[in-house]
Amino acid sequence: MPPAPTREPLNKHVGIPQVQPRRSLEPRGERTLHNILIEGGTVVDGTGSLGKPLDVAIDGAKIAQLCKRSEATGAMRIDATGLIVCPGFIDIHSHSEFQLLANPLAESKIRQGITTELVGNCGSSPAPAIGVARKELEGYAELAEVRLDWVTMDEYLLRLSNLKTSVNVATLVGASTLRQCVIGNSNIKAGEDELARMNQLLADAILQGGFGLSSGLIYVPGFFASTEELVSLASTSASLGGFYASHIRGEGRTLIKAVEEAIRIGREAHSRVEISHHKACGRPSWGTVGRTIAMIEEAREQGVDVSFDVYPYTASCTYLDTLLQPWAREGSKEEILDRIRDSQTRERIIHEFVTPTESMEDTVTDTGWENINVMGFSSDLYKRFDNNTIAQIAEAIGKDPAETTLDILVEENLRAIAIFHEMDEDDVVKVISHPLAAIGSDGEAEAPYGPSGKHATHPRAYGTFPRALRRYVLDKKLVPLEEMIRRMTSWPAQRIGLQDRGVLASGMAADIVAFDPEKIRDLATYEDSHRYPEGIEYVIVNGAVTIDHGEHTKERAGQVLRHKSSIA
Ligand SMILES: [Zn+2]
Repeated sequence: MPPAPTREPLNKHVGIPQVQPRRSLEPRGERTLHNILIEGGTVVDGTGSLGKPLDVAIDGAKIAQLCKRSEATGAMRIDATGLIVCPGFIDIHSHSEFQLLANPLAESKIRQGITTELVGNCGSSPAPAIGVARKELEGYAELAEVRLDWVTMDEYLLRLSNLKTSVNVATLVGASTLRQCVIGNSNIKAGEDELARMNQLLADAILQGGFGLSSGLIYVPGFFASTEELVSLASTSASLGGFYASHIRGEGRTLIKAVEEAIRIGREAHSRVEISHHKACGRPSWGTVGRTIAMIEEAREQGVDVSFDVYPYTASCTYLDTLLQPWAREGSKEEILDRIRDSQTRERIIHEFVTPTESMEDTVTDTGWENINVMGFSSDLYKRFDNNTIAQIAEAIGKDPAETTLDILVEENLRAIAIFHEMDEDDVVKVISHPLAAIGSDGEAEAPYGPSGKHATHPRAYGTFPRALRRYVLDKKLVPLEEMIRRMTSWPAQRIGLQDRGVLASGMAADIVAFDPEKIRDLATYEDSHRYPEGIEYVIVNGAVTIDHGEHTKERAGQVLRHKSSIA
């Protein structure tokens, strides 16, 4: 789409000068004047093409043109000499839905160059907020210290756009959330009427702006959804142009079966499929991603549009209670806590921590208590153990690790978070080196101050994109720079269905990052997680300079992106 003419039509004759004097440095009056000119940098446009020495001109919220040096000028000029200028990064796997309401500056995201976040992943979305879903979402809202004052997707998106965030936000609709709206957290097969109701709620939410369906099949109640139920929902989503992103049913011993299921859902629902944070967890499963990637390639050859995303770390992060078998996590919080307190069920839970069973996705034996760090404590009893391993906490209080885990869950009302060091670097390399991989943080927009800064976090919330560039492009040289940038920009835009972002070209949204390839690196670590990266010099969101010389300008020019079915 050509850009709308601004003050004067774009000079079509640039590059074909009538006379050939030596180009003066400041022929200001003869050059098209734009709002902003990013000059002197190397433009990597996001398509995978090689970098070129071009200037980028911006008018309003759009890119006016990419031009040769000195062909245009700008009311504001940004010196990008020595910098790579590329599209803003698109975080295809984010969980910022509540954190953005708590802190619209999106500090940990914008400072790593992310200009668009896709939230509502892993089966849980901020809307619709009715029934049991509302109770559940109120819990998340409380943790982020915000008030849940919406019901529908439309109301949530309006809330965000009224607030104004520093990044653009798009959302998926969570299959677990839909199930909680209609059925709750019980292990019940959805009846015909219930499934129809879930499909209706899903269609409404997509028509209000959702980009498709997400599932989280290790969580309750996602775990209780049959493949048929997911095919039905994914069909509704696909019929409206949405895609299906899945935290699949298993990432450890059941990884292959879980990938098979995701492919089947894509085939039967005629849906694009995104396998979220693709990985193999637990030592016995290491290396399996070689097989799953081959399965994905084969499915694509057969016409099923499957791909995946990845974060560049060997540790995952989720709620500590995911260590419990799904049967133990069924129902309300009180019911779960009662099972942990009851001596008989408690014994069964402990037995299953270390005993692989048919449905057991992962066992503690595969990971080890010494590789599970716990954080997010609110009780005085455990606060001092922030970011300690279960093995360390158990030793400090003189108890068995399994007993300690259950004590923590009771004391913390099930809310403790855990980092699981359970992946192999070779697998991360295999996944991130593949051309189907998009980069997604799986993290929330956090800040070292405010509610999110109160406890340790996974470093991915701060470092994902700089780390992927530093570690796998600049240091290990596994992926060319232009190709890695494509996996952070145009590729996720294509997967999500964002038509005017992810590529630097005339008429596209002016979401731009300029970074220093010498300096770029992540600083957040597992021990010291709330650290911003280095080397991200400028970030522009919809034409507004939001990071300037590495510092947040407090601009909040992000837009709420609504799926095109909502506008049609
Ligand atoms: Zn997930």
